[in-house]
Amino acid sequence: MIIAIDGPSGAGKSSVAKAVANKLGFACLDTGAMYRAVAWQALQNGIDLNDSEALGSIARDYKIEFGTAEGEAIPRLVSISGVDVTNEIRTAEIDKAVSPVSADMSVREALVLQQQRIGRTGNYVVEGRDIGTVVFPDAELKIFLTASDEERARRRVLQNEARGVGSTDFEEVLADIRRRDEYDSNRAHSPLRAADDAILIDSTNFTIEEVIDQICELANKKA
Ligand code: C5P
Repeated sequence: MIIAIDGPSGAGKSSVAKAVANKLGFACLDTGAMYRAVAWQALQNGIDLNDSEALGSIARDYKIEFGTAEGEAIPRLVSISGVDVTNEIRTAEIDKAVSPVSADMSVREALVLQQQRIGRTGNYVVEGRDIGTVVFPDAELKIFLTASDEERARRRVLQNEARGVGSTDFEEVLADIRRRDEYDSNRAHSPLRAADDAILIDSTNFTIEEVIDQICELANKKA
């Protein structure tokens, strides 16, 4: 079974997806981390972020892997070509670079194929922007998770403080969230939008736990 969770930046997709997967005994795939890893590698290689050919070959040729830190139950580590980039992909620099990288068609083609391959190996919660529309249009359960801009910025600041990486300035984070929403929603390829059969959850006035319970209940009904 595939549970697709899509939505804008900072809606709580990652925390919700990991917790839902944990509760249901599913694996979890953070597709945003894959776009971030390609953006990190592109900057590392000094590639022009408009060079589609060079970006595409990174997405095709550099292996992206997820791992579990010692003593933790849920995989959180991200590496590209064997280099651990778990923290490096969460910086403000990558927040900026990831938009043009994820708008590139050859990058999307390569990463979507990998995501489909991974998701077909078992029961997965897959989170991103185009999971219910493009990657798994036949997903058994599709959630579109959103929240107000301000609430999303507030949560992202708390997350960055906890991780010790990324901006903790509310106005800066809010501006970045709005910029990425705009970019993700208006790009030509796979823009951010809810699938017609997605269930919309506005989490502005719910706790993360309430959202997790709602999704688990929906999943149990489907199963
Ligand atoms: O989810 P996260 O904020 O980590 O995603 C980083 C960026 O990757 C998003 O701003 C978006 O541009 C891109 N993305 C995407 N398609 C996905 C997941 C993420 O375009 N399925």
